[in-house]
Amino acid sequence: MRIVRFLADVQESPEQARWGLLVDDLVYPLARAPYESPRLNRGFAPEIDGPPHLCSQVRLVAPVVPRKIVCVGRNYAAHAEERGHRPPPEPLLFLKPPSAVIGPGEPVVLPSVSQRVDHEAELAVVIGKRCRYVNPQDAWNVVLGYTCANDVTARDLQDRDGQWARAKGFDTFCPVGPWIDTRFEPSRRTIRCLVNDELRQEGTTDQMVFPIPSLLAHISNCMTLEPGDLVLTGTPAGVGPLRPGDTVTVDVEGLGALANPVMAGI
Ligand code: MG
Repeated sequence: MRIVRFLADVQESPEQARWGLLVDDLVYPLARAPYESPRLNRGFAPEIDGPPHLCSQVRLVAPVVPRKIVCVGRNYAAHAEERGHRPPPEPLLFLKPPSAVIGPGEPVVLPSVSQRVDHEAELAVVIGKRCRYVNPQDAWNVVLGYTCANDVTARDLQDRDGQWARAKGFDTFCPVGPWIDTRFEPSRRTIRCLVNDELRQEGTTDQMVFPIPSLLAHISNCMTLEPGDLVLTGTPAGVGPLRPGDTVTVDVEGLGALANPVMAGI
């Protein structure tokens, strides 16, 4: 199943977005968030609430409202090496604020205090169940689905600050979408980043230093994961700069493509 959040009327504000089920070119409104619906073995029982809309006539917004976004640094060896690091001995965690989230088609705004803002194409896990101390073998039970994400990073500020909160935390620095796929199978999938038509990043999910079950076990050993939380699983090699006027696309094989324009900010 593909879960979206959408505005039926472009005049509506993002707070009025509704949950929806995307089937072919139709969006069926849902009565509630997927993680508030009865759970099935793999997924949930959707409750349709109203007639469908044509997808071309609604605006898709970010398909998730996370309370926190947990990210994993240097989880692909080739990316760690291009930044002059070895892969860490255990997952390297940091947070992005929920205020950084934007949806498909919304602009990434480059802050004027940074001279170098990079794209980082990533597979994001969407948590479906409140959990703590997850065993790796049980980790799939807490996953609602997957979406594409871009861990946009002010690289110069990351190097200068030491702490990453500012470099990773500007508004618009966490594009996600276009949907949550609850049936996506994340093994051996190609992750690509394109800037305009240029291929910048390419890797496969089996290159992760720490696979998804290990990440969920490690993170939940520290903090409670809540429904709707996002886990960004790291980026393959090839990170590079974004410039005003670019369009950046994160493409995950079998999942979808997330495209965002880039513009200069203040
Ligand atoms: Mg990253």
